[in-house]
Amino acid sequence: MAVPDIGSIDYVKYTNVTRCFQIILKAAETSRTRIAGISRISKVTVSSCVDFLLDKKLICEVGFQESRRGRKPTLITVNPNAGILLGIEADVVCSKYIVTDFAGKLLEEGPIPCEVDDPETFMAQVQKLVFRVCESYPGYEHGLIGVGIALSGYYDERSGLVSYVANRASWNGYPLKANFQKLFPDIPLIVNRLANAGAIGEGFRDASLLDNDSIAFLHCSWGLGVGIYQNRPGKPGLINGSSRFGHTTINYNGRLCSCGNRGCLESYASLRALYRKLFPERPISSHCIDDLTTRFRQKDPTLLAALDEIILYLSIGLSNVVNAYQPRKIYIGGLIQLFLTEENLTQIRRSVEAAVPDVFRQDLQIELPAHGIYSALYGCIGDVRNRILQFVF
Ligand SMILES: [Zn+2]
Repeated sequence: MAVPDIGSIDYVKYTNVTRCFQIILKAAETSRTRIAGISRISKVTVSSCVDFLLDKKLICEVGFQESRRGRKPTLITVNPNAGILLGIEADVVCSKYIVTDFAGKLLEEGPIPCEVDDPETFMAQVQKLVFRVCESYPGYEHGLIGVGIALSGYYDERSGLVSYVANRASWNGYPLKANFQKLFPDIPLIVNRLANAGAIGEGFRDASLLDNDSIAFLHCSWGLGVGIYQNRPGKPGLINGSSRFGHTTINYNGRLCSCGNRGCLESYASLRALYRKLFPERPISSHCIDDLTTRFRQKDPTLLAALDEIILYLSIGLSNVVNAYQPRKIYIGGLIQLFLTEENLTQIRRSVEAAVPDVFRQDLQIELPAHGIYSALYGCIGDVRNRILQFVF
């Protein structure tokens, strides 16, 4: 069933159930009383919402909360057996996937063996993966309950079309949603940009975020993007702006970028920039990352010198993120993490401190994401789970 019409009685029920469900997702275990306290929805309505979610098997009861007086309230939590979730990252040189249960426990992870030059070839791999995953995990209430895809390009959620992928013309206008739903009409699909997916993944996970805190997720792999997550009360998961951050000009007469302009930040602070320094003539392939990590392990002096330059430009980019968004936390995600040491992180923090006045970076933390290079995938899955009532209400 789709989302009910705004203004209908069912829509009121839908928003109340969604609010309760999102509170349960954020808490490890909680009670009806606590949900009523946080949501400011009456206890009677909360009980009816919880009964609805129990009936759908999306949540389960796990025992009783300690109480000094009266009846002990029953604790509820997300039902791990509600279904499995599949997250897919379509990156230029390194596509991968994860499978988790509904509580977010990792069941498997792996590479997707294809380059994403051609969307049809990529979709054929997705099709194979979905069929295999459905067969491998029987016994879950809703089976494969949802799929999330993170793209390095732009996707229009309203039309379901890929709007733009730099240097991948065959993707532009590709009907990703329609082609997926043709193959799997009963499996919900949500598509995000890589940086947004990373921001959602870290935002949902980070219990230390206060109301209105924002985090920035810098996705630095072959390209460079920024996703912003704001922890707004009542609107969890809100993304406030995402940009073509990698294509901000830092030198108008500089290196030619993949977008056709000159001097974009991405041409200086990305793995593409690193690869071009080391292998200027070699074509892009799925072996690029192996080429770079091999020379990194060998402590190749040319690679280390090029990496120093990339870290310098990355620090400039991060200072710009602070100036533009003033987040409380910045996560440096993407495959650049494979090349960053604790020493590099200290160097980046110092550069940002030197570039941005103290008043604009109070309590700022710059970290690597908890889920490492899988952050965008966890974000995809978290977003599908957070919005699952749009599909199963
Ligand atoms: Zn550019």
